[in-house]
Amino acid sequence: MAGVWIIAEQRDGEFRKITFEVASAAKKVADELGSEVTALVLGSGMEGACAELGKYGVAKVLYGDGDAFAAYTTDAYNNACAALIKDGAPDVVLMGASTQGKDLGGRLAARLDTGIAVDCTALAVEDGKIKATRPMYAGKVYADVIINGSPQMASLRPNVFDVVESGGEAAVESVSADAGEVKAVVAEVQAAEEGKIDLTEATVIVSGGRGMKEADNFALLEELAGKINAAVGASRSAVDAGWRPHTDQVGQTGKVVTPNLYIACGISGAIQHLAGMGSSKVIVAINKDPDAPIHTKADYCVVADLFDVVPELTKEV
Ligand SMILES: Cc1cc2nc3c(=O)[nH]c(=O)nc-3n(C[C@H](O)[C@H](O)[C@H](O)COP(=O)(O)OP(=O)(O)OC[C@H]3O[C@@H](n4cnc5c(N)ncnc54)[C@H](O)[C@@H]3O)c2cc1C
Repeated sequence: MAGVWIIAEQRDGEFRKITFEVASAAKKVADELGSEVTALVLGSGMEGACAELGKYGVAKVLYGDGDAFAAYTTDAYNNACAALIKDGAPDVVLMGASTQGKDLGGRLAARLDTGIAVDCTALAVEDGKIKATRPMYAGKVYADVIINGSPQMASLRPNVFDVVESGGEAAVESVSADAGEVKAVVAEVQAAEEGKIDLTEATVIVSGGRGMKEADNFALLEELAGKINAAVGASRSAVDAGWRPHTDQVGQTGKVVTPNLYIACGISGAIQHLAGMGSSKVIVAINKDPDAPIHTKADYCVVADLFDVVPELTKEV
C-alpha cells in the first residue's frame, strides 16, 4: 500500500488544526505523484470522527484504537506507527512539526532507517520525490532537502500550509495497532488556562519583551489581545525576568509561531527571537529605538514608546 501517509494528531478525541494542514499539503503532493493520501489515526473511541478527514483530501484512514493511544506518548505512538508504516510501505510520510511531531518524527525516522526533513515551510515534487524547504541556522538560510531513504519523511511547520477543503468522507479501516512496551506514561497533564489561545495555533499574537519593564505591564498586552482575539507571547528576556511563563516564550528555545499578524512590543529582534516568529505573515514592531533589528524584519515599524502606542491601539480597535 504505497502512497502518501500522514500521521494525524488529536487531543481528547478531536483532530488538531495541524492535522488538516498536513492533510491538505499531503493531498497536493499526492496529486502530483499520482497517488492518494492515507491518514494514520491513533486514538481511543474516535473511529466515528475519522471520516471527517476526507474533507481535507484524505482518501483512506487507518484507525488504531486503544487506551494507550488516548493521549500521546512517545513509546506507544512510535511503536505503533513504525509497525504500521513498515507494513504499509508508503512512499512519503508527513506530520506536523508540532510538539508531538517534534518528539515523534526523529525517533520514527530512526526506527524506519530513513531521513526526515523537519519544520518544513514548503513542499514540492521533483523527479517523483518530495523536495522539502526548511529553515536552518535559526532561519538565516533556507535549505531544499530531498530525502533519499524510504519512506521520505517531513514534518510541516504549523500555520504555514493552508487548510484546503477538497473532498467528502474518507473510507475508514480499523487496524490492529500495538503500543508495545511503553516505558514512560503520562502522569499528569497541566492544561493551559481555560480560554487561553495556544501560541502555536494563534492567528494573531501580541508579544512583549524587556521593553515592557515589569510583569504587571503585560496587562496592556492582555487587554489589546482580548480585543483582537490574540494570544500573548514573550521574548526570552521577559520570561527569564519571571514576567511570563516559559510556555509563552517565542524563539529558538521557545515556540515557533507563524501567525497572520505578530505585534512585537519592546522586543529588540535578536536572531534567536526572529527564529521563532520570522515566518509570521505580517509583523508589526513597536520599538522606540529606530535601529532595533526587529525593524529590519517588520512590515510596519512604529518607532515610539509602547506605553503610548499600545493603549491607543487598544482604544482604536
Ligand atoms: C542559545 C540562546 C537561545 C535563545 N533563545 C531565545 C528565544 O527562544 N527567544 C528569545 O526571545 N530570545 C532568545 N534568546 C535571547 C536573545 O538573544 C535576546 O537576548 C532576547 O531575545 C532579547 O529580548 P528582548 O528583545 O525582550 O530584550 P532587549 O534585547 O533588551 O530589547 C528590549 C527592546 O525594547 C525596546 N524598548 C525599551 N523600552 C521601550 C518602550 N518604552 N517602548 C518601545 N520600545 C522599548 C528597546 O529599544 C529594545 O530594543 C536566546 C539566546 C541564546 C544565547
